[in-house]
Amino acid sequence: MTVTRKDVSNSVSRTTPFDFSDEQKQSLFSQLKSQRGILSQADILLLCEQHQLTESQLLKACVPVASLFSVAPISKFYVGAIAQGKNQQGETTFYFGANVEFSHQALSLVVHAEQSAINNAWLNGAQSIDKIAISDAPCGYCRQFMNELSTAQSLEILLPERHFTLHELLPYSFGPTDLGNNESLFSQEKNDGHFASVNELDQKLAETALKAYVPYTANYCSVKITTFENGNFYGSYAENAAYSPSLSPLQSALSQFYLAGLKFDDKTVKSITLLETQGAENQYEVAKSVLASFDNSPAFEHCIAKLVKD
Ligand SMILES: [Zn+2]
Repeated sequence: MTVTRKDVSNSVSRTTPFDFSDEQKQSLFSQLKSQRGILSQADILLLCEQHQLTESQLLKACVPVASLFSVAPISKFYVGAIAQGKNQQGETTFYFGANVEFSHQALSLVVHAEQSAINNAWLNGAQSIDKIAISDAPCGYCRQFMNELSTAQSLEILLPERHFTLHELLPYSFGPTDLGNNESLFSQEKNDGHFASVNELDQKLAETALKAYVPYTANYCSVKITTFENGNFYGSYAENAAYSPSLSPLQSALSQFYLAGLKFDDKTVKSITLLETQGAENQYEVAKSVLASFDNSPAFEHCIAKLVKD
């Protein structure tokens, strides 16, 4: 039998809950900002060894660090979530997330921490999500959002004091198949089209739009946040069978932006670009509303492109 490093860390694991010190939390927070809210398998193994934790114990211990990314000017309720999934190489990876609220705008525009973590995994190539650790019980909206995952049937939900499956928290649910949709978020369906004017578009913006999960409106769309000194951030549209818990591309991109620990202002953000599919547009007004919550919001460009079947 081969003994893996995970087995080794299990054999020396603690039996009591573990909390990082404030100094350790700040150090991990700094590391995560530079890694845009992702801990790789190597990072996870190192932390497990350093603190004598199993992967699940580490996952739960990291949740208070995820909460540090929260931007909650309305509720002051700082929620953290971490999705544990497999990256493209099949390696266990932690994808962090936190809630994002927008001052002076409708509450329905907010990003929930669970959405942020799942979006982080989805945009960054995770194949699937097995578990999600959250600082508080997931609201009904998030239970519904998670029900769109390819792993919804087996998804584990780790709360500070108790563990559940999604199915236990959302029995007799309404999901994609009720609308005749056999796809799911993370089902890795490939769009078999391309945008006609792709030469004029940012290539990654076009690719991100084509990866959108839009089984209900077919609006393949994406957003790019261009910063002056911190690179670009992309977001895509993740729809939901119950429609309301869908995550819009600007919110998707903004939650990625905040996972780099940046502040949204005109000194940091240069411009915002929204790309939508011609004939299926539905994101312009949502994006305008979200951007209206910022003082001196940056230049906003709206591109509409024709989607051509290959
Ligand atoms: Zn929620």
